[in-house]
Amino acid sequence: PNDQIEPDPNKKTLVILGTGWGSVSLLKKLDTENYNVVVISPRNYFLFTPLLPSCTTGTIEHRSIMEPVRNILRHKRASVKFYEAEATKIDYEKRIVYAKDDSEIKGESVEAEVPFDMLVVGVGAENATFGIPGVREHSCFLKEVGDAQKIRKQIMDCVETASFKDQSPEEKKRLLHTVVVGGGPTGVEFAGELQDFYMEDLRKWIPDIKEYFQVTLVEALPNVLPMFSKQLIDYTESTFKEEHITIRTKTMVKKVTDKTIEAEVTKPDGTKELEVMPYGLLVWATGNAVRGVVKDLMQQIPAQKDARRGLNVNEYLVVNGTENIWAVGDCAVANYAPTAQVAAQEGAFLARLFNTMAKTDEIEQQLKELSAKQAVAKNGDRDAILDEIEERQRQLRRIKQIGPFKYSHQGSLAYIGAEKAVADVSWLSGNFASGGTLTYLFWKSAYLSMCFSTRNRMLVVMDWLKAKFFGRDVSRE
Ligand code: FAD
Ligand code: NAD
Repeated sequence: PNDQIEPDPNKKTLVILGTGWGSVSLLKKLDTENYNVVVISPRNYFLFTPLLPSCTTGTIEHRSIMEPVRNILRHKRASVKFYEAEATKIDYEKRIVYAKDDSEIKGESVEAEVPFDMLVVGVGAENATFGIPGVREHSCFLKEVGDAQKIRKQIMDCVETASFKDQSPEEKKRLLHTVVVGGGPTGVEFAGELQDFYMEDLRKWIPDIKEYFQVTLVEALPNVLPMFSKQLIDYTESTFKEEHITIRTKTMVKKVTDKTIEAEVTKPDGTKELEVMPYGLLVWATGNAVRGVVKDLMQQIPAQKDARRGLNVNEYLVVNGTENIWAVGDCAVANYAPTAQVAAQEGAFLARLFNTMAKTDEIEQQLKELSAKQAVAKNGDRDAILDEIEERQRQLRRIKQIGPFKYSHQGSLAYIGAEKAVADVSWLSGNFASGGTLTYLFWKSAYLSMCFSTRNRMLVVMDWLKAKFFGRDVSRE
């Protein structure tokens, strides 16, 4: 790696926000020699989110699916600056990102202005709560490492509190009732993981809780996993039934208190009824909302006035209404689902685009110099220069042929518990839907191969083996 520390005034400054799927995939393939690259993110690691639900029960330890961003950057050819900070505001007109160090340890410099020529917004999304009262105060989300750690701790706290002397049966039932709100893949995967934990470890280690332990998945729509085929939805619902996970569809949560949720249930005859469910642990997984910093940027750009779910981008991922800002992943709206697969492909596309743009700039500069030379050259030299100009122009046309971003869908996969998974995979011969134990092995190997590094892969395999042979660790941190 290049040890150059100061920015090169001859190069454009490219600022990248976030260290998630979109930004890291861009960084991996970006030729950093072409720009002064600055990365700003409150998280100094990449997180492999598909295995995050497994961290809530200790099947996988969270550090096994984290990759330090410093490790990614030290392998780049030119040095990249990384600031562990949150972008609090993007000033589109002034071309400045305002960054704030929000971590526990503060230095003299806490807030800074970072100017940019080009900006990539890859800050992901926030948890949607729809303004439902009590959600933020009383529930656990499942998006970041800290969320998974909090859930893991609370599961064991509920179990140990329920086992405390003289706890009444009603209170035991409440404490050992986990309610998961949102029947998307996050909610389904978490419910499956928790039931596995109970079946494989908890009920053996703490038999007293057997009569009381219950997981309920609450979904407002008529079925769970709306992005999967009907066959796989049915398979998931029947597997949950066998595993004794209760699914409550057509049930929309309206209010949350410290011990209960209140939901509006639509009955088969179409009438609605309010139901109160006591809970010990509440996990809220109702999808994505737009981050404040992104909303603020949307308001500065007139062309974004109709944008709702994130920054509207064109087919080159340029934020509509701008020419030097791009957006990737969950904060961009490009007509694809907010998934890691999409974000990773978008990031890789931007790397190709930026590498190409740098080459184009270089050739255009050479062309300028050659034209100037040609103007003052003698007759004999002029032909040679003209040949060179033509060759450069041919190169330029070839490079500029980079097409718009096209997403290639590799399929959807989700773990549903009891060593079963569902997969909607589009391979050469059309669509292929499958569910069951073989699919589970496919899920395991697919996710393992997608892990960021060999180190991550080894750690995940070791965690799986450890949980299989010794059981999950039930100590509460
Ligand atoms: P993220 O990966 O969320 O990264 C956002 C980054 O921005 C983070 O580094 C964050 O710290 C940083 N950031 C936040 N705010 C700021 C700020 N103000 N300034 C600077 N940086 C900021 N998708 C799949 O395709 N397959 C799966 O199996 C799958 N499983 C999932 C399981 C779970 C539990 C979850 C929560 C999601 C899952 N997803 C899956 C969805 C997938 O994780 C997201 O679509 C993906 O992470 C989006 O990538 P991103 O780069 O847009 O955002
Ligand atoms: P989601 O948006 O997919 O699902 C949220 C669900 O919550 C919806 O079905 C919605 O009807 C329900 N809901 C909303 N408000 C409710 C309320 N008040 N009461 C009851 N139910 C309510 O969210 P997610 O599961 O967090 O997923 C987010 C994104 O990440 C999606 O694009 C998803 O595909 C992706 N993801 C993929 C995987 C995978 O491929 N295995 C895993 C996790 C997440």
